[in-house]
Amino acid sequence: MTAAVKGCWRDGKILVIARESALPHRCIKCNAPVAEGTKVRNVYWHHPALYLLILLQVLIYALVAVLVRKKARITFSLCAEHRGKYWKGLAVGWIGTLAGIGVTIHGVTGDQVWTTVEGSVLLLVSVVIGIGWTRLLSPQRIDEDYVRLRGCGRAFLDSLPDYSR
Ligand SMILES: [Zn+2]
Repeated sequence: MTAAVKGCWRDGKILVIARESALPHRCIKCNAPVAEGTKVRNVYWHHPALYLLILLQVLIYALVAVLVRKKARITFSLCAEHRGKYWKGLAVGWIGTLAGIGVTIHGVTGDQVWTTVEGSVLLLVSVVIGIGWTRLLSPQRIDEDYVRLRGCGRAFLDSLPDYSR
């Protein structure tokens, strides 16, 4: 059925991969075989407790986060359908966000309450769609040996061996 995969497991809803191993050439969302369209992404992760620093000072947080964050390079695939959805999300997100900002400014400067509200709603919806449709893999944890990622589809995860220590 599927070729043996090395260095990739599932841990419930989490994808676990050994550092620097590439994912199988199948869509990470629907598990469809993908001949081309391999993507490479860098993901970054730091311990969530670090976010507490934001309360202190955003600048301190940004500095410390860049210093201590861990980086991993991920190679994965998306089928034509899910690639299309990704680009659509990117386009809708950006165009809608810019339009929303424009309409909001127009409403504020023209003292038109409803135009301002419409612009704000458009802005919010666009940001939500943009983030929702373009989020592919987000790190849950990165350590010396493994990268744990959220965002894979059920079928793709089902195709992987269970991760167990
Ligand atoms: Zn797919």
